[in-house]
Amino acid sequence: MNGISRRRFIRLMGGAGAFSALNGLAWSLAGCGDTEKQSLDTGKQPQVKAKARAVIVGGGFGGASCAKYLRRFAADVQVTLIEPSRRFYTCPFSNTVLGGMNGMDYISHGYETLSERYAINVVHDTVSDIDPVAKRISLQAGNSVDYDALVLSPGIDFRWDAVEGYDESAAEMIPHAWQAGNQTQILGRQLVAMEDGGVVIIAPPGNPFRCPPGPYERASLIAHYLKTHKPRSKILMLDAKDKFSKQPLFMQGWEAVYPGMIEWVSGSDWGGIGRIDTQSRTLYSSFDKPHTADVINYIPPQMAGSIARNSGLANSDGWCPVDQRTFESNMHKDVYVIGDASVAGQMPKSGFAANSQGKVCAAGLAAKFHGIEMPDPSYVNTCYSLVAPDYGISVAAVYRLVDGEIKKVEGAGGVSPKDADAEFRRDEARYAVGWYQSITADSFT
Ligand SMILES: Cc1cc2nc3c(=O)[nH]c(=O)nc-3n(C[C@H](O)[C@H](O)[C@H](O)COP(=O)(O)OP(=O)(O)OC[C@H]3O[C@@H](n4cnc5c(N)ncnc54)[C@H](O)[C@@H]3O)c2cc1C
Repeated sequence: MNGISRRRFIRLMGGAGAFSALNGLAWSLAGCGDTEKQSLDTGKQPQVKAKARAVIVGGGFGGASCAKYLRRFAADVQVTLIEPSRRFYTCPFSNTVLGGMNGMDYISHGYETLSERYAINVVHDTVSDIDPVAKRISLQAGNSVDYDALVLSPGIDFRWDAVEGYDESAAEMIPHAWQAGNQTQILGRQLVAMEDGGVVIIAPPGNPFRCPPGPYERASLIAHYLKTHKPRSKILMLDAKDKFSKQPLFMQGWEAVYPGMIEWVSGSDWGGIGRIDTQSRTLYSSFDKPHTADVINYIPPQMAGSIARNSGLANSDGWCPVDQRTFESNMHKDVYVIGDASVAGQMPKSGFAANSQGKVCAAGLAAKFHGIEMPDPSYVNTCYSLVAPDYGISVAAVYRLVDGEIKKVEGAGGVSPKDADAEFRRDEARYAVGWYQSITADSFT
């Protein structure tokens, strides 16, 4: 396809759910070099800068969505997606694998459709270096790729030095399972090997971290597994925080479905972790109170993926500040950061948020490559959590840009009602499955 009409651009973005209220916006198209402005309604096709090259790093929710939608918005742009793995295991629904509801296949997705249907150049390699001046990235295999725009969606890395006694090698024995795949399997095997009557400790980190409701959904679905197979067992949550996402709903669900099985301890009681003895599987709270368990799931504090930090894109907190309208980095021109790695105002670090940001970023790039002014974006997020296979709860929000910052739109969205009946919870569980199927289809196919 050469060129893009205004109507098609708006239709595609509307279909992506990333934009709204475009009517009335004064759009203009410019030819190459921005010299000759043309009316959008003349029917003339805009001239397109020859073969603009977009390179997208990371084939998770943010990167895959951005690559796909950039091709849909601007099929004349060369899109290269760089991702080391041939299969992507999603963190969303990885807790259902731990709960014995699904196998690993259920959360595994490939890149064949992105490459075959959308003609995205998918390269299975790791980006080792970025030169923002030469606009070139280097790959571990030794070659390099030039870009006009570079989008990074590398997800998270862990702060391995946050707690004494825990490092990357310790994660083989005390898995975090906060990146899905091998880590999910290690934790799953430990749960299966545990005797009935055993103790599982889950230790969630302080904010900000990937998927705020994730640890509590994990406790719920591990409880589902234990209730089914090892009903005398217990789960102890040693939290670094004093409150957590959807807390009243989770606690109500635990009381109703798993009475007495899950104990949650806040950071200011004795929840926070001071050190870990991997060999004896003992966590010491910040007050040095020891807790020994049969299975420990310690989730370390997090920061942006290393390629972003090593390329000078992160702030002193380890996350990447961006222009929240386009996701262009505050540090380097023509480099964009989306997903968990970015500082995205009030949006949580979630797969849905990364997908939404991928679309906004793709639309901004398509507009830029075609010399079109980008309209004001809106962004969305819904997080479903399963308390049990037939018991779902959710939180949803719509966001807009206010004074350069992504902020929640008051009155749009909200959490599931606390007084809902069993049928409502069952419906939300069904919607959760539907959400997973549609977000993975939207991102990877
Ligand atoms: C247990 C759990 C449950 C969750 N449940 C939900 C849920 O129900 N709903 C929801 O919306 N979100 C959920 N999330 C959050 C969601 O997984 C993340 O927010 C989402 O994956 C972020 O997308 P991303 O693109 O930023 O990073 P990722 O999806 O992690 O993708 C990053 C990709 O970048 C690649 N990469 C990294 N460095 C390089 C490099 N140097 N070169 C090339 N590639 C590189 C990695 O291989 C990876 O594939 C959950 C998370 C967890 C842990």
